[in-house]
Amino acid sequence: MSIKNNLLKILDDLPQDISLIAVSKTKTKEEIMEAYEAGQRIFGENKIQEMVLKWSELPKDIEWHMVGHVQRNKVKYIGEFVSLIHSVDSLKLLKEINKQAIKNNRRINCLLQMHIAQEQTKFGLNEAELFHLLDSEEFGNLKNVTIQGLMGMATFTDDEEQIRKEFAYLNSIYLKLKNKMPEINVLSMGMSGDYKIAIEEGSTMVRIGSSIFGVRNNQAKIK
Ligand SMILES: *Cc1c(COP(=O)(O)O)cnc(C)c1O
Repeated sequence: MSIKNNLLKILDDLPQDISLIAVSKTKTKEEIMEAYEAGQRIFGENKIQEMVLKWSELPKDIEWHMVGHVQRNKVKYIGEFVSLIHSVDSLKLLKEINKQAIKNNRRINCLLQMHIAQEQTKFGLNEAELFHLLDSEEFGNLKNVTIQGLMGMATFTDDEEQIRKEFAYLNSIYLKLKNKMPEINVLSMGMSGDYKIAIEEGSTMVRIGSSIFGVRNNQAKIK
């Protein structure tokens, strides 16, 4: 199947109100352009340098989403153009994003990344840390960042019940947060292997890479 066919098939399956981020990390400009020509305009990357390079060389109506871990000292490279940062997991990082947004005379949209998986290595906040951050006076002073919602990644496993439980838990936090901040409207959860479960559990935005562009490498699943 071609990239175009993969993309169109996924779009066909996706409920209308779910946004699709085409995760194009490691993929070439030509591969991205194939999805672009099929109508896709939102692409996700997980490395700053790679995203900057692609932004500079590809059409300017592409919306670039940062889905990977962000080092504070690199926010300056994307401050001008990034359209949503999915992976904010500290107040320090949020302050730096705010600073770069001010420099570029704009607001930068962010999601707070929650830790919901069993793996120790994945980044993200727990529920207490999330509300602590949002209740802090410092957060209240950040006028150039907009929190649009939450992001999370489930455990990389074949155990669907485990995945479902983790997504349901994230959705419960999202709904609590929405009580406090009714303006939020993004729950970014679901990747190639688990996006259907994520949608059943309340996702509004899925981040799909390998099912569109083909596999990148072999990642070992945990049982
Ligand atoms: C790579 C990546 C994806 C896409 O993963 P696939 O399994 O290829 O769909 C989604 N979200 C994040 C944060 C990623 O790093």
